[in-house]
Amino acid sequence: MTHLKNALLLKQLYMYKYFGYRYTNLIAFNKEDTPLLLPQNIDQLKIQASQCHLCDISKSRTRVIFGEGDLHAKLLFITETPTTLEENQGKPFVGKSGEMFQNMLTNVLKISPNEVYVTPIVKCRPYNDRTPTPSEIYSCKPYLLQQIKLIAPSIIVTLGPISYRYLTGDETPLSQIRGNVMQYENYTLIPTYHPTYLLKNPYTKKEVLEDLKRIEYLMKLIQ
Ligand code: SF4
Repeated sequence: MTHLKNALLLKQLYMYKYFGYRYTNLIAFNKEDTPLLLPQNIDQLKIQASQCHLCDISKSRTRVIFGEGDLHAKLLFITETPTTLEENQGKPFVGKSGEMFQNMLTNVLKISPNEVYVTPIVKCRPYNDRTPTPSEIYSCKPYLLQQIKLIAPSIIVTLGPISYRYLTGDETPLSQIRGNVMQYENYTLIPTYHPTYLLKNPYTKKEVLEDLKRIEYLMKLIQ
């Protein structure tokens, strides 16, 4: 699994950087290495993630927030880093942003929360709710990519700038690309604002509503 190999290699390189190395010719993995495989079954993948110590966040997390919802969902949402409340309750989208997210689904998209799948870009909450480092996000990305592969949604919606940037590698500000319908590998991708951002900035409601209407339209096309 190339992504997992890359995550491990990246972790090693960040460690060398931390120790002051500016250059290394170390080839940590080569083609002859035993392949590193992630489970092809979502339950097994969840178990593996729940025991993960690939990045430093594992030292302080109390629970891994893997994701939840319909394993055959056509619509998959990628949210940002888990909050304290989410870590305490063991699932994404609880509290006020959870209510907002549910309203977005039921009132605008006219679908039940049980019909979608939601997962964070990073599965553990960093200590003091700091922003995860790029190294930590890339360490976690293989789990996300495997979830996407196993669930095989038709549409992916990234919520917030971090989810979009680290899924796609595109650093365009979210305000410029939100609501755009784009292709990400075999999936249709739409970035929009995170419900927490919407709560703090109610003036973005009109834009989020536009984005949701676009998602609703696309959902009708694939049914
Ligand atoms: S954030 Fe991801 S990579 Fe880091 S310990 Fe948690 S599951 Fe592993």
